[in-house]
Amino acid sequence: MKKLTCRDLGGPCDKEVTGNSFNDVGNNCKTHVMEQINSGDEAHLAAAAKMKNASPEEHKSMMAEFEKRYNKAPNIV
Ligand SMILES: [Zn+2]
Repeated sequence: MKKLTCRDLGGPCDKEVTGNSFNDVGNNCKTHVMEQINSGDEAHLAAAAKMKNASPEEHKSMMAEFEKRYNKAPNIV
């Protein structure tokens, strides 16, 4: 399992996000972001909007960058 932060995945905070795969971490981060948005956090809303408004190329390069960070993140048990 790996541990990243919300910030590593384009988010605005240092909440820890764990997962057994890049997809897993992505889904857990999405859940966290949705929770924050639902409780009215504008920073997370802005981060989500930025992802949503990115062009396919921008989105692809963002995902590549996040995946790089995932690959570099230390394994935790
Ligand atoms: Zn966050």
